Amino acid sequence: MQKITVERTKHPRSKPQDQSKLGFGKIFTDHMYIMPFDREQGWHDPKIVPYQPVSLEPASMVFHYGQEMFEGLKAYRTEDGRVLLFRPDKNIQRANRSNRRLCIPEIPADDFLNGLKTLVDVDKDWIPTQPGTSLYIRPFVIATDAFLGVRPSDTYLFMIILSPSGAYYEHGLDPVKIWIEDDYVRAVRGGIGEAKTGGNYVASLAAQVKAHEDGYDQVLWLDGVERKYIEEVGSMNIFFKINGTVVTPQLSGSILPGVTRASCIDLCKHWGLPVEERRISAQELVEAAQTGALEECWGSGTAAVISPVGALRFENQVMTIGDGGIGPVSQRLYDTVTGIQTGTLPDEFGWTVQVNA
Ligand SMILES: *Cc1c(COP(=O)(O)O)cnc(C)c1O
Repeated sequence: MQKITVERTKHPRSKPQDQSKLGFGKIFTDHMYIMPFDREQGWHDPKIVPYQPVSLEPASMVFHYGQEMFEGLKAYRTEDGRVLLFRPDKNIQRANRSNRRLCIPEIPADDFLNGLKTLVDVDKDWIPTQPGTSLYIRPFVIATDAFLGVRPSDTYLFMIILSPSGAYYEHGLDPVKIWIEDDYVRAVRGGIGEAKTGGNYVASLAAQVKAHEDGYDQVLWLDGVERKYIEEVGSMNIFFKINGTVVTPQLSGSILPGVTRASCIDLCKHWGLPVEERRISAQELVEAAQTGALEECWGSGTAAVISPVGALRFENQVMTIGDGGIGPVSQRLYDTVTGIQTGTLPDEFGWTVQVNA
């Protein structure tokens, strides 16, 4: 494992006073992690430096052909002052799966984890403490060759930045309204849908704008070929409870394999609920809603953890899920996952990693 050089800022900024106004992704901490790659030295010379702009040539490949990978996870402070990461090994494995798909050199897992832990430890005083708040961690890699030809870059930067983030739900869990998109598609099997990369997000913007204009919070994507089968929400995986069974789309190659998704499946099975990973058509949901079999629906992702869905629109029909409120499985998953993350519940599955010794 490579030794990280730490250069601490001489000008620490004041931390946000009002933790109820943090929002998401707007404020950054005092430090960042940066590690370059070139073909001669591989990944080398990792540093923690004061948070600052990076200087790049306008010809840098990332600006033109989008060769980049990102991750997202969170650090939490427990009541007894420990700092915990939630399943960082899963994010590191996924980052390297994304890297392989995107022709970015893999990052040694031990250097990646050491970078996460060391940076979070340096900036641990930025971790907000109010219920529901956390420190969002954004690792990412960009291609930096100054070259306009199309091929994988020979040089890269791996960076990690940190952002204190507010409670996703200011007044407890709040059901969202979701638009099932039947015109635009996000990803196809064999494409980059199962990689965490900016290209999937730019592909999603037009539908998101359209859904927002119609008063919907998020877009639920259908498969890119037949436009019949449910895939996932913009930055969340999706679950349904139909006739007592928890159902979620199988990982087909066009869906992002969420860490929260995996945790939901593990917990539901642990609780003895039947869980099916399979194809689900939008038509099946319409019919289940009509007969009352569609009992619950929720999204899962690092930012919101669990996002209960109150209504789904497909073509010209609006389905109300359950009574439009928060279902019992959604609530139990939210309480359990956040309890493990913040150390108020025992970590029976060994999911948390402590940052400070
Ligand atoms: C990150 C992401 C998710 C959720 O993954 P988590 O690991 O649970 O945060 C789901 N879908 C997409 C497209 C994503 O980028």
